[in-house]
Amino acid sequence: MRICGFIGTTLIDFPGRVAAAIFVAGCNFRCPFCHNPSLVLEAASCDAIPAADILDTLTRRRGFLDGVIVSGGEPTIQPGILELLGDLRATGLEIKLDTNGSRPDVLNRVLEMKLADYISMDIKAVPERYSLAAGVAVDPEAIDQSIDRIIHSGCAHEFRTTVVPGIVFPEDISRIAARLAGADRFVLQQFRPDVTLDPQMKTVTPYPGDLLRRAARAVSGGFSAVDTRGA
Ligand code: SF4
Repeated sequence: MRICGFIGTTLIDFPGRVAAAIFVAGCNFRCPFCHNPSLVLEAASCDAIPAADILDTLTRRRGFLDGVIVSGGEPTIQPGILELLGDLRATGLEIKLDTNGSRPDVLNRVLEMKLADYISMDIKAVPERYSLAAGVAVDPEAIDQSIDRIIHSGCAHEFRTTVVPGIVFPEDISRIAARLAGADRFVLQQFRPDVTLDPQMKTVTPYPGDLLRRAARAVSGGFSAVDTRGA
């Protein structure tokens, strides 16, 4: 387990909570639009932050923080993720886990052991473009299992799609929303070309924000909440 990023306070990434965020290094996907390429491509060489230091910091700041986010990279591929979540549990903070959904077995353990209070899963694309979006061959069964497990978990959750031109087409959004029927919250996130894993993605012009907002309104009936982020 290499933790290579820590943010002391975020007000926007854990709904309704003042949270800190931990970023683990390493990912099994290579999404060309990834906004954290150093965590993916330089996982072995980034400056690691000892988990014990982070736990100390979180414990000291317990009166100010409501929660902590474990993000990446991809947390569920990390050896020791269950132990880290267990240690975070002991701080008394609420825990949000971000995942790409590729490891339903690990997700299942997290949920069984009640090691998260909120799960956020990325939905990269419609099935026929999932591997294009992830930059690697993706097992569609694993993604499906994770979606169903989260929806029926009883744990608060959201699904998030970064709407990247050439990967997610406007007409895909209603298909993705239909697949997520029964979920708590769906977030449409604007693509940002400033930092990307594939340099070619920097030349891609994001969709107008209004397109995302209209798409969000169009699918809003299927969820408790639908939001746009960065649009
Ligand atoms: S955006 Fe893709 S490559 Fe980047 S951390 Fe998330 S799953 Fe991994």
